[in-house]
Amino acid sequence: MTPGPPGDPTMAGRLDRLHADLLRHRDYDLGFPGATDLPDMSPLAPFERLLLNNVGHPFAPGGAYRMHTKHLEHEVVGFLADLFDAPLDNRHGYVTTGSTESTHWALWQARLMLPGAAVYCSSAAHYSVAKAAELLRLRLRVVPADERGEMRYDLLHAAVVRDGRRQRGTGAIVVASIGTTMTEAVDDVARIGAVLDAAGVAEAMRWIHADAALAGVPLALDEPVGRPAFTFADGAHSVAVSGHKFLATPFPCGVVVALADRHTGRGDITYTAAPDSTITGSRSGHAPLWLWYLLRHWGPAGLRARADAARTLARHTEQQLRGIGWPAWRAQPRAFTVVFPRPPQPLLDRWPLATDERGNAHAVLMPGVPRERVDRFVADLREALATASGVGLVSDALAS
Ligand SMILES: *Cc1c(COP(=O)(O)O)cnc(C)c1O
Repeated sequence: MTPGPPGDPTMAGRLDRLHADLLRHRDYDLGFPGATDLPDMSPLAPFERLLLNNVGHPFAPGGAYRMHTKHLEHEVVGFLADLFDAPLDNRHGYVTTGSTESTHWALWQARLMLPGAAVYCSSAAHYSVAKAAELLRLRLRVVPADERGEMRYDLLHAAVVRDGRRQRGTGAIVVASIGTTMTEAVDDVARIGAVLDAAGVAEAMRWIHADAALAGVPLALDEPVGRPAFTFADGAHSVAVSGHKFLATPFPCGVVVALADRHTGRGDITYTAAPDSTITGSRSGHAPLWLWYLLRHWGPAGLRARADAARTLARHTEQQLRGIGWPAWRAQPRAFTVVFPRPPQPLLDRWPLATDERGNAHAVLMPGVPRERVDRFVADLREALATASGVGLVSDALAS
């Protein structure tokens, strides 16, 4: 955004203007998956002016640098490890800069354990998977997703068997998308495990990373019966979530949890007096502090209530869109994401929405979106359709 030309060129004037611009943009934000229902964070104000750096290994006791929040980071990882059914005596993890770093770290660790194995993900996986594979020079196999965005397990099986014939015994690294970027479809980690069983890939020769950036926490809080299978109990070896999506931190961060016995560190670094096991060196001490505060503030019941309210608003949005003749759908009943044909351009100019090559757009009804915003969007769309129907834009959009 460009906050100029400044009416008031003072610093305070420019900041006021920036703030007003951001609030105006937020009023039209339905297309991106960040929760905005931040509670009162004033108890953290005393920490604002402290440099907090969790440099190096998250759990290493000691270490030379004292201005850190690693004990809170440990609790945050522990909370999520519990939520994702990680074994009590076999868990590792840390607070990352986001799910992109979490995927990068998981694939790095997987490569250390399984040199030569290919990475499999679906065509609906987040673009960060391909980037991490490229950075790590891992062979990437993109398995087609079905209409809703879930991995085609039959095609995963075919790809793993084909690679196994060519290179015996190298194993397989699979990234399961737990809530895809476009439709929030969920890959089934238990079925992926069964595919690897059938393809003859032993447990010790596989690494399944569950990329649950958006949906991991709300899904894991649901009753186990009937919810998608993606935790350590279902066969995952690492699970990651973003902090700035469901957990509402106002800056990007993430958490990755993995089985400790699969984690390979890089020995003690003399300078920090701690083992080197993370992608970045210096790491935010504020991100764990905020995550810890938010998890403590809401607790499991509060987090669940936020998820329920957001899903109710997603159903409302789906119904309202259908009500004006715009065919909206959700990939699975717990999704915050409502998918619909790409609206006419004038509407997208006002409401920035992510769109894909299939001609779909989506709204993500994260905690913090007021119902009023949804109703305003639907009213704007109805008006745009009434104007556009004369020139064939609607039938074009629906046909694509
Ligand atoms: C948002 C998202 C990512 C990227 O996460 P960042 O925290 O932005 O790096 C990766 N995977 C999925 C499924 C996502 O939704």
